[in-house]
Amino acid sequence: MTELADRRLLLVHAHPDDESINNGATMATYAARGVQVALVTCTLGEEGEVIPAALAHLAPDREDTLGAHRAEELAAAMKELGVTDHRFLGGPGRFRDSGMMGAEQNHRAGAFWSADVDEAAALLVQVIRELRPQVLVTYDPDGGYGHPDHIQAHRVAMRAADLAADSGFRPQLGAAHAIAKIYWNRVPRSVGERLFTELREHAVAGLPWAAARLDDVPGVVDDDRVTTVIDGRPQVARKAAAMRAHATQIAVAEPWFALSNDLAQPLFDIEYYELVRGRSGAAPGERETDLFAGLPDTADTADAADVPDSTDKPQHDRGTVTST
Ligand SMILES: [Zn+2]
Repeated sequence: MTELADRRLLLVHAHPDDESINNGATMATYAARGVQVALVTCTLGEEGEVIPAALAHLAPDREDTLGAHRAEELAAAMKELGVTDHRFLGGPGRFRDSGMMGAEQNHRAGAFWSADVDEAAALLVQVIRELRPQVLVTYDPDGGYGHPDHIQAHRVAMRAADLAADSGFRPQLGAAHAIAKIYWNRVPRSVGERLFTELREHAVAGLPWAAARLDDVPGVVDDDRVTTVIDGRPQVARKAAAMRAHATQIAVAEPWFALSNDLAQPLFDIEYYELVRGRSGAAPGERETDLFAGLPDTADTADAADVPDSTDKPQHDRGTVTST
């Protein structure tokens, strides 16, 4: 086993580009601090819509080579963020993009949505036991916005976190490891409303796109559910560069971007999370500003015996909103 850094962050995402949109500033921030940042992407995103006309031939109804192309985009994005450990769950192409909810691709052989959750989770257990992250970031149970691969990524990540900590589960996959803190991606409603007001009233006139609506943004919740704020403003240029690297999927005009629907939305330089497992490291009434807040300093304290009971609820107060 290679030597582990003291602080280790694992992110689980559905498709190449989700990591940069949701967590790009966070990933760049921690990579720059020497934290071991690892990304597991569950599919190659083969069913995505292609934005540049010159690359339209990659699409699933034409050459069906978008997956390999998006793996290259992901590698380029990770270079921009300074993240060296990125993998596909079970290897590239093990699970295929399931398309949007209700599409016939949902039930195609190999589609991630059709995968057995425990089987897919076992592949992630091996990664968790190897990397031994203290912190896991993934989506909420709705996958942020209902895409089947995002919902499945949530299920697989949460199941894998439980199984990885169970010493009786497939010991050949490595020594049990309990992840101390688990977060879901969030956007506080007040922040989203403020940015969308700015977009509609000031910015959209200068953009080549119409304005999206707040409903189009994944993970929007009432402010009091947001426990943790990562100020990624010093790294926002790297986040924007990573998003640009996903050129088949994202068009960027900082501080806005659009997906293939040509609807502008905010590029978040401050990223938000809800702590759903583990103890908050923030003072009562405040939000955390570090995903590792409250954790012991050294690597060997991350052993299963030393982390909070996995059934604990986050111990944070529902403070007033102070972030921007
Ligand atoms: Zn996605």
